[in-house]
Amino acid sequence: MRITMIGSGYVGLVSGACFSDFGHEVTCVDLDAGKIDRLKQGIIPIFEPGLDTLVTTNAAAGRLSFTTDLASAVADADVVFIAVGTPSRRGDGHADLSYVHAAAADIARALKGFTVIVTKSTVPVGTGDEVERIIADTNPDAEFVVVSNPEFLREGAAIDDFKRPDRIVVGLEDERARPVMEEVYRPLYLNQAPVMFTGRRTAELIKYAANAFLAMKITFINEMADLCEKAGGDVQAVARGIGLDKRIGSKFLNAGPGYGGSCFPKDTLALVKTGQDFDAPLRLIETTVAVNDNRKRAMGRKVIAACEGNVRGKTIGILGLTFKPNTDDMRDAPSIAIIQTLLDAGATIRAYDPEGMEMAKSMISGIEYAADAYDAAKDADCLVLVTEWNQFRSLDLGRLKAAMATPALVDLRNVYRRSDVEKAGFTYASIGRSEAAGDHEGRMDAAE
Ligand code: NAD
Repeated sequence: MRITMIGSGYVGLVSGACFSDFGHEVTCVDLDAGKIDRLKQGIIPIFEPGLDTLVTTNAAAGRLSFTTDLASAVADADVVFIAVGTPSRRGDGHADLSYVHAAAADIARALKGFTVIVTKSTVPVGTGDEVERIIADTNPDAEFVVVSNPEFLREGAAIDDFKRPDRIVVGLEDERARPVMEEVYRPLYLNQAPVMFTGRRTAELIKYAANAFLAMKITFINEMADLCEKAGGDVQAVARGIGLDKRIGSKFLNAGPGYGGSCFPKDTLALVKTGQDFDAPLRLIETTVAVNDNRKRAMGRKVIAACEGNVRGKTIGILGLTFKPNTDDMRDAPSIAIIQTLLDAGATIRAYDPEGMEMAKSMISGIEYAADAYDAAKDADCLVLVTEWNQFRSLDLGRLKAAMATPALVDLRNVYRRSDVEKAGFTYASIGRSEAAGDHEGRMDAAE
């Protein structure tokens, strides 16, 4: 199959590389000429484990190419995927569909012969209808169908998620698209990945429902963590105790500083707006959004409390800036609000992240960047573990203490045991683990 991917960001690049690895002939298109130039030279614009090898081997085999020339890439394709961004629209939180609509019009002008157009971007219910209308209006002679095929990959595990998905959702209104989509995903059929065909609107809703449910699960355990701290419990044991119930499941029950990243914040907000538009308010999601927003700055206040209520003139070391490990993505990372709260309160920040500092520099100003975890701890009055990168899991506590002005650790990911940290001479604060509850082995697998 000849596949063209419009948008070569996280989703477009990973999906395009994986489709080419399945044996399809893939062209990845982007407006960003610099990005395309770098990709042609084998330079990967994002940090995603395994992606560099996947891209270079498939490009070398002639199955994967990169271009800014949308028109010729579309004219040659059997299937065109739209994988452009759908950020929050300024002001009202709706998904900003301007990139999707512009891509649809560009595609329409370039279509030659029957083509299946697939929306992979996360888009509100009804967007497929609008894409169809834009294409038909722009090019009344075009022969095409529009399909919804939302993407569920997680950053940091994107290739594995794409190649071994829990399910593939395909929403279509025209049966001519079915054999084409079956062919696109045939290698995964052979792996017995469940492919679910639905109506197009239902497929669009499934994606938002999935993200909103996961965001709600995280927010639920975060609120339980607050209760544990006050009532004398251990949230990790609570998570384990409920997660072993198969009806609940153990994933996404790690209490932390609040969800962030390029998807959950914008997708929950967009779903709330969709609910309001259809006069079907989604109150659980509205509350989830509000609770999570408050939580990020509350984490800043937690750090201030750990510094005896005052950080003015104090230095705070930050370990981890990205919204989760194994990505360099800083979009809506909780670290941004936490750091801003601390800066507002007069602190000096020394931050270190293994992959995210380049992107962070364009988003957070007025802080110092450190060379490693120990450098971030230098002269610090408190060290805050924000993102649970593996390299932060077994730090030399003695060395950290020697570097710091005051040995205090705020562990927002519950990586350490209170007894170990206190034995090393630190004061210690974590999430949802009251002093009274002591140390428990409640930690489950890594979530998000
Ligand atoms: P991204 O910002 O990383 O990439 C989007 C790319 O599209 C950019 O490189 C941009 O230059 C390009 N682009 C925009 N308009 C274009 C046009 N008309 N022609 C060619 N290129 C164009 O975004 P992303 O993180 O890959 O997300 C894309 C979509 O996938 C979003 O809707 C997102 O919600 C969804 N999604 C993302 C993830 C994730 O983990 N990042 C997971 C599942 C779904």
